[in-house]
Amino acid sequence: LTILGLESSCDDTAAAVVRQTEGQPAEILSSVVHGQTDLHSAYGGVVPEIAARAHAEKLDICVRQALAEAGVTLADLDAVAVTAGPGLIGGVMSGVMCAKGIAAATGLPLIGVNHLAGHALTPRLTDQIAYPYLMLLVSGGHCQYLIAQGAEQFSRLGGTIDDAPGEAFDKTARLLGLPQPGGPSVEGEARQGDPKRFRFPRPLLDRPGCDLSFSGLKTALMRMRDQLVAEQGGLTRQDRADLCAGFQAAVVDTLAEKTRRALALYLAEDPADPVVAVAGGVAANAAIRAALETVCAEADARFTAPPLRLCTDNAAMIAYAGLERFRSGARDGLDLTARPRWPLDQNSPAMLGSGK
Ligand code: ATP
Ligand code: FE
Repeated sequence: LTILGLESSCDDTAAAVVRQTEGQPAEILSSVVHGQTDLHSAYGGVVPEIAARAHAEKLDICVRQALAEAGVTLADLDAVAVTAGPGLIGGVMSGVMCAKGIAAATGLPLIGVNHLAGHALTPRLTDQIAYPYLMLLVSGGHCQYLIAQGAEQFSRLGGTIDDAPGEAFDKTARLLGLPQPGGPSVEGEARQGDPKRFRFPRPLLDRPGCDLSFSGLKTALMRMRDQLVAEQGGLTRQDRADLCAGFQAAVVDTLAEKTRRALALYLAEDPADPVVAVAGGVAANAAIRAALETVCAEADARFTAPPLRLCTDNAAMIAYAGLERFRSGARDGLDLTARPRWPLDQNSPAMLGSGK
C-alpha cells in the first residue's frame, strides 16, 4: 500500500508518502514539512487566520514535493489520508479540502485521520511496536496518557487539566525574556542552574490518578520573578538559570510520578511485551527523557521515543495512521468534515455526543 498523507492542523504544512507491504516494516518514502514559525513570530503565538492562509498556499507545493521526492505519481497511490482534526479549524479545512480535491480528481479513497492518533501510532511506524502499548503524548498543545489498543482504540488514563507542558515551557521563556520556542531555551538555561534554589510546586501529586496540571508553575514563576525584580531591580543571568532549573525539575518530577502511575494501570492489563512510548515536541527534553527511562527501567518496561522529526508535527504519521485505517477497511466520503475538537478516547463525552 502506498499512501499520501497531508497535515495542516497547526503551524506546519506537511505532506508525505508512506509505503508498506503487508508483514514488512512501513517505509517513509518522503516527508516534507514547511514550518510557519517566521510568519507568527511577531505575534507571540500562532495566528489562526494567517496559519490557514499559509496552509492553503503551501499545500499543493508540499504535495508535489512529497510525490517527487518519493518518486511516485498520483497513479501509484492507494489512498489519500488527511488530518481531519483536532486543530485550528481553518488549517484543518484547508487540508481536508485539498485532500478532497485530489480524491475527487483521481477517484482515490479518502481517509480522515485524527491528528492525535497520528502522534500515538508513530511508534508503530518507527519501531513496529505491537498493541497494546502505553503512550505519553507531550507537546505544545497536548498532554495525555493513552493505552493504544488498536489503530482506532485508545483508552485515556489521564491528562493535563489546564496547560500542556510545551505551553508551560513557552510561557516560562516568555516571562523570563528567553527566545521562542521556549522548550530548548529553558532547557539550555536549566543546565546552568540550581534546581533547588527556588521551590516550585508539584501539582496534583497529592491526588490519585494520572491527571496533570501545569498552569500553577507559571503563576509560581511569575511570583518569584516579580519578587526578585522588586528586591534587586532585575534578574541576573544566574537567577534566570535557577528559575529555569527549578521549573524544569517540577515538570520532570510530575511527569515521572504520573508515568509511574499510568504504567501500573497499563501493566495491570498484563501486556506480553510492555512498552512505553513518548511522542510530541517536549519528548526532545533530555531531562524528561532520562526520568521516563528510569521509571520504565524500574518497572521492566521498554522505553521508546521516535526520532524528533517524527515526534513533532509531520505528515508521515498521518499517512501511516491512514494506512492502518485503510487496511482495517475504513473509507471516508467526500462529505468528510473538519473537526476542531476530536478526542481519541471512545468513552469521552464528545465522542458519545457525536454518536460515534
Ligand atoms: P500539537 O502537536 O500538540 O498541536 P505543537 O505543534 O505546538 O502542538 P510540537 O510541535 O509537538 O507541539 O512541540 C512543540 C513544543 O515542544 C513547544 O511548546 C516547545 O517549547 C516544546 N519543546 C521543544 N523542545 C523542547 C525541549 N527541549 N524541552 C521542553 N519542551 C520542548
Ligand atoms: Fe501535533
